[in-house]
Amino acid sequence: MSALPDTMLAAYLPGGSRTESRTVPVPAPGHGQVLLKVRASTICGSDLRAIYREHLGSGPEAYQGVVGGHEPCGEVVAVGPGCTATVVGDRRVVYHISGCGLCDECCRGYPVGCLSPRRAAYGWQRDGGHAEYLLAEEKDLLPLPDSLTYLDGACVACGFGTAYEALRRADVSGGDTVLITGLGPVGLAAGLLARALGVPLVVGTDVSAERRAQARALGAVHHAVEAGELAVLLGDGACVSVDCSGNGAGQLTAVRHTRRWGRAVMVGEGGTLTLDVSPDLIHRQVTLIGSWVTSVHLMRELLQNLDRWGLHPECVVTDRFPLTEVDTAYKTADSGRGGKVAIVTDEAGA
Ligand SMILES: [Zn+2]
Ligand SMILES: [Zn+2]
Repeated sequence: MSALPDTMLAAYLPGGSRTESRTVPVPAPGHGQVLLKVRASTICGSDLRAIYREHLGSGPEAYQGVVGGHEPCGEVVAVGPGCTATVVGDRRVVYHISGCGLCDECCRGYPVGCLSPRRAAYGWQRDGGHAEYLLAEEKDLLPLPDSLTYLDGACVACGFGTAYEALRRADVSGGDTVLITGLGPVGLAAGLLARALGVPLVVGTDVSAERRAQARALGAVHHAVEAGELAVLLGDGACVSVDCSGNGAGQLTAVRHTRRWGRAVMVGEGGTLTLDVSPDLIHRQVTLIGSWVTSVHLMRELLQNLDRWGLHPECVVTDRFPLTEVDTAYKTADSGRGGKVAIVTDEAGA
């Protein structure tokens, strides 16, 4: 093993739409921990909404001034004592919330909902992926199949995992039609995964013509239209709707274009949904599902399925920057024009 450097570059998100790069010590893995060389670290809508522009939230749930980035993927370069399933050279995706491992939510496999004050999300409460190296708990790591790139893995760490969970929670199968409202990176992921699951009709909607065109070009949807055109394509509605817009209008579109006995899943964070409960839900027997990030086991299942399907999540990435250009990366992501923005090293595609 080549000797590790003493210091590394790391990027912080001080708020006010700024980034701050610092040189900091390379951490040493303690008991049960590993050190990853970060190969790819993608930027998420929630990084922009709740950290980069302004620090939302308060108390332990708020951003704690740590290294940013909650979608890291990398290669193990050092292993601490007590690790049992990881060796140097392993390629790993980080499940981006470190839970206590003991509470009801952790036992269900959902550390995202960990009820303990020890819960810490990478890039929020503990150092994340916008650095050359990342200290992670061994239990938070998932194997990256050889056929997938590090950038594929970073895309799974939050966005694709979240989209897959939504589809699985709604029991999506080849017998369903699917509507996706909001064609940002998570909406694109939901479309690509629905198609991979055999859904014969995936329709997407977004207010942005550029995003509709991108969804079509990627093959994430069969049709991408404005909300006013949905009834023509979907008739009585889709069997399953997935809202990835995170705004009230998109959420309402999703519910109202869910057909009788259908399922509507809310994934996009934020927004206020106002429903006319009797006609919108009760009389049409619609099931409304809230789905937050994903579980460890479904993320593992997704990684295995991506390998089988030959599907590469990195296809949603439109812009790649080195860590030294983290500020441009965030400005690009915040412009909302393109798709997913990634911070990568040269070996990201390896
Ligand atoms: Zn995310
Ligand atoms: Zn827990």
